[in-house]
Amino acid sequence: MATSFPFAAIVGQDEMTLAIQVVAVDPSVGGVLVLGDRGTGKSTAVRALADLLPPIQVVKGCPYRCDPSKPAQSCLVCQPEKTSHASTTGKLKTESRSVSVVDLPLGATEDRIVGALDLEKALSQGVKEFSPGLLAQAHRGFLYIDEVNLLDDHLVDLLIDVAASGENLVEREGLSIRHPARFVLVGSGNPEEGELRPQLLDRFGLSVNVKTPQDLALRVEVIKRRDAFDKDPAGYKAQWQGESDKLQKRIVKARKSLDAVVVDDEMLTLCAQLCQQLGTDGLRAELTLLRATRALAAMQGSKRVSTEHIKIIAPLALRHRLRRNPLDDTDSGERVNRCLQDILAL
Ligand SMILES: [Zn+2]
Repeated sequence: MATSFPFAAIVGQDEMTLAIQVVAVDPSVGGVLVLGDRGTGKSTAVRALADLLPPIQVVKGCPYRCDPSKPAQSCLVCQPEKTSHASTTGKLKTESRSVSVVDLPLGATEDRIVGALDLEKALSQGVKEFSPGLLAQAHRGFLYIDEVNLLDDHLVDLLIDVAASGENLVEREGLSIRHPARFVLVGSGNPEEGELRPQLLDRFGLSVNVKTPQDLALRVEVIKRRDAFDKDPAGYKAQWQGESDKLQKRIVKARKSLDAVVVDDEMLTLCAQLCQQLGTDGLRAELTLLRATRALAAMQGSKRVSTEHIKIIAPLALRHRLRRNPLDDTDSGERVNRCLQDILAL
């Protein structure tokens, strides 16, 4: 794989880098939707995501990257009684692998995504074997779809199903395969080029708007860094290694302290009030708000969630869940901020 731009060296896209770090700390926040113009570094930031996370332990040889500590969620191959990977003691052998960030290109076929019969093996050896797809590769990692708003409807349905169940079920060509596929969906796109369906929108925990930076000094800095990276990707990455390690340590520490962060009733009430006033459907918005503020608090080393955390997270967690108001063309993040200010002023 080509060297990715170091995450720590990204400047001028604070909202996007914050959202990505929050889901790195707590993947149950859900996916991240990145909306904005072309050439604003959306893909760069997503591909750099792997920098943030330490390697994971997987069952040795498992094509689905099963988690040895969660046998109940394992694929059929790894379930202890049927396993071919188990050692004599019945304990699974493990190996460490880096967290995957898998690209799902717009032109990908359904076979490529869900996996299919390995035709070569079928023809040459007469063996029916499943060849895993992108969903298998993305298990326990991230699935990235650039221009997600242009993805075919039937593929969107498929992704919504898998994202909701955490499982990929393939039944065709005489195969019946079921394997775990839990991933964080990261989508980017330009909303002017096509709308996103509400069911898919709902799958994203956070959404961020990226714009070309307007500050001149910042623009110069972005260009300088990009140019230095393009000249010598490996050298530039090495130069940033210290910062990257610090960032990864911070994420790992935040993950460990997540459960200890207190969210008291006052803060929960504020989240509920905000969602109620904005008229978001269901309770998913509140849950996302709760998880994301807790992750932010953990990242900042705070012991409890405060109003300040909610102020930072609310636009990211709620802006894509607002109903359109045709008479109000304010940026939806701005609408969220306004509503929060009104509640806090009471
Ligand atoms: Zn497995």
